[in-house]
Amino acid sequence: MDFERFFAEEMAGLKAEGRYRIFADLERRMGNFPRADFHGPRGVEAVTVWCSNDYLGMGQHPDVIAAMHEAIERCGAGAGGTRNISGTNHYHVLLERELAALHGKESALLFTSGYVSNWAALGTLASRLPNCTVFSDALNHASMIEGIRQSRAKKAIFRHNDPEDLDRKLSEAGPDGAKLVAFESVYSMDGDVAPIAEICDVAERHGAMTYLDEVHAVGLYGDQGGGIAQRDGVADRVTVIEGTLGKAFGVMGGYITASANLTDFVRSFASGFIFTTSLPPAIAAGALASVSHLRRSQAERTAHQERAATLKRRLTDAGLPVMPSESHIVPVLVGDPVACRAVTDRLMADYGIYVQPINYPTVPRGTERLRLTPSPLHNDADLDHLVMALGEIWQAMDLRRAA
Ligand SMILES: *Cc1c(COP(=O)(O)O)cnc(C)c1O
Repeated sequence: MDFERFFAEEMAGLKAEGRYRIFADLERRMGNFPRADFHGPRGVEAVTVWCSNDYLGMGQHPDVIAAMHEAIERCGAGAGGTRNISGTNHYHVLLERELAALHGKESALLFTSGYVSNWAALGTLASRLPNCTVFSDALNHASMIEGIRQSRAKKAIFRHNDPEDLDRKLSEAGPDGAKLVAFESVYSMDGDVAPIAEICDVAERHGAMTYLDEVHAVGLYGDQGGGIAQRDGVADRVTVIEGTLGKAFGVMGGYITASANLTDFVRSFASGFIFTTSLPPAIAAGALASVSHLRRSQAERTAHQERAATLKRRLTDAGLPVMPSESHIVPVLVGDPVACRAVTDRLMADYGIYVQPINYPTVPRGTERLRLTPSPLHNDADLDHLVMALGEIWQAMDLRRAA
């Protein structure tokens, strides 16, 4: 087989469809969020980033940076092994305690990323619970889907955010075997929010356990940043809450929180936990500082919500097609992959604005979009500039406006 030709042809196909992924070569500038230096065809240029998942700018918070420096000075660079073999550092232990407290759970377990935490925890639970069926929301993240697939458990997909359909699917499955309902709180591409209490009502009625991905909500919702489940006062009804340390917390890593027995079970059986080097101590220390800061401080969350609401209003007033979103995520519909890429290219080239186009398979074909993530550090002038730029581009490209 001509392997080189195979790879080249596959890539040519992606390019022809307009969904070839191009990574922007950026240097984030500490003290200057949301600004970054872009290494592009014209050399190095300053840009404003409008699509970071470091939602609050915690990646450059002084407490986080100081904690990381201190941990490097104390412990050096790497963890030195897997958790089992010489890789458990005191910072991991402290961070797990903090995360359990954040969610009001008995225990927490760290992973090297949110992706790995979903893949490993769901894979382990669904493969080892007796005769398990997983009930998975239709819009679940790739990391959950991969974990479920890897478990080889039976799977039923329920309609997105639809407790009635979940109820039907659970009834159809009959009374035997373990049942696990897997869903997210904030869905990151549409910005809609799951009816957690209703889903728990249904799950409880059928004796199912619940697994909730709060990746796009931790740090951002609830009085301590414990997510939507905390905001809604239902965290104690959710069996497992999963989160990331890489988005609102601004560092890296993933985790689950649950009962002591459940986390012990995953710790003991999950290959993706056991057989990989643990997070560097400095990462754990930085994440710990970030979580504990956001447990105490409301200022970032309040400002974040205000910026998101203001941006939605400004875009709507300008006649731009903002998609309905109940959260901090501001999607703007383009509806075509080539046009979507062209909009973001123009934003970068003509306006110094960096937004990554969101195309299939991340979102369904025909719903290609910009996904804007305003932060407390985007000021009024940044908003003015963005809205003006989008207005001019929509005009120049004759794109569809709001209905
Ligand atoms: C980003 C994401 C993850 C993975 O988290 P990482 O820490 O980035 O690996 C999991 N679930 C959802 C819904 C996500 O958007």
